[in-house]
Amino acid sequence: MKSLLLEGGRVIDPANHVDGVADLLVREGKVAAIGPEAGAAAPSDAERFEAQGLIVCPGLIDMHVHLREPGQVSKETIATGTEAAARGGFTSVVCMPNTSPAIDNAATVALIGQRAAEQGIVNVYVTGAITKGLAGEELAPIGSLKNAGVVAITDDGHCVQNNDMMRRALEYARMFELPVLDHCQDYSIVTDGVMHEGYWSTALGLRGWPAAGEEMVVARNILLAEATGGHVHCQHLSVAGSVRLLREARQRGVPVSGEACPHHFTLTDAAVAGGEKFWREDGKAVWAPDARRDARPAWPAYDTHLKMNPPLGSARDREAILEGLVDGTLEVIASDHAPHSNYEKEVEFDYAPFGITGLETELALALMQLYHTGRLGLPEVIAKFTVAPARLLRLPKGTLSVGSDADITVFDPDREWVFDKGASASKSKNSPFYGWPLRGKAVATIVGGRMAWVDRAKAAVA
Ligand SMILES: [Zn+2]
Repeated sequence: MKSLLLEGGRVIDPANHVDGVADLLVREGKVAAIGPEAGAAAPSDAERFEAQGLIVCPGLIDMHVHLREPGQVSKETIATGTEAAARGGFTSVVCMPNTSPAIDNAATVALIGQRAAEQGIVNVYVTGAITKGLAGEELAPIGSLKNAGVVAITDDGHCVQNNDMMRRALEYARMFELPVLDHCQDYSIVTDGVMHEGYWSTALGLRGWPAAGEEMVVARNILLAEATGGHVHCQHLSVAGSVRLLREARQRGVPVSGEACPHHFTLTDAAVAGGEKFWREDGKAVWAPDARRDARPAWPAYDTHLKMNPPLGSARDREAILEGLVDGTLEVIASDHAPHSNYEKEVEFDYAPFGITGLETELALALMQLYHTGRLGLPEVIAKFTVAPARLLRLPKGTLSVGSDADITVFDPDREWVFDKGASASKSKNSPFYGWPLRGKAVATIVGGRMAWVDRAKAAVA
């Protein structure tokens, strides 16, 4: 493998508190040197990448992705899902177990590992189910899942309703040093809700999904984490009450953490009423004050690309998620990339499946809502995509320490671009963000020292 010298980029490595312009040398798939010695140590035949004006950071990690393989390859495959990840700047993804069959046994973990090795262009880490078939009735073989290599357990897409089952899952997972990730949804409260319960669900005549449907399970998880000492990570938190509960619990030292998705801190439930109403009601907070306001995308009311689980919250909920990201209550940003075929989404709002794709837009939306608005600096935003998920899942990733795997993302935080449906690598086209003017884009995604993806138009590779 040829050596690679990334020249003159702003190297930001939150794990090592590094932030400064420097060269970075990759040799034999590892980070070999950073700083003045990198250029001196580079072999004469090294590939050179001009990174002036760009950010060079540890490869981004998305710890909440649905790759749909095995079983639902018409929606996405490991090949197309990892291609979308690479274009979005992600060098590692963590896939969820609600496949068919579910990832509740060692053989399915091995199958995914084998396909990822053959067809994946970024690293694929696997989560196992908490319960068999994600049915919530009987614990999955957590020890054998751990031996097969899962990095966490979760019933994502579903939520363990029985509190004693969840308690036992936490006790087992703790013995095997596995974090438990939870999709927080109380079925008895949510019933068949399809959007956030509030003004807009009433105005639109759609069945409401009360905020307590999430908060109830967040509170349950905090109590059980405290009782068992096992770590619970609450996935895709969407409402203010959840953030408040988590903040208070973390201040008391309870082993709980949380993640946020870009759609929840960008959009609100007003978006379900159509683009015009959204921009008027809640759209003001989306772009930085200096951003162009002439190109606001339009979409109709009842657009099923605004239907996801959990649903888009109110403007107050969106603000609370942003505050949680700023004060560290929410450590991780993840996409909940959930591909669905067109024919499934082209139905009435009530009947459409929950979920949107996200791998290719999440970096831009995070930069727009957190960095370009001045809420956080670049190192803090990058930490939520790198060192934070790596520490939580104990992945040997998320850092540019010399000797570590050369998983590196090069991105331009200021580049303006429009997300084009035709240019998306995902097999599914169910994003609400097509046609959006976005700001911030990956330019090169390097996995183990190899270019998994590079934007040839913008990158000068010699
Ligand atoms: Zn989920």
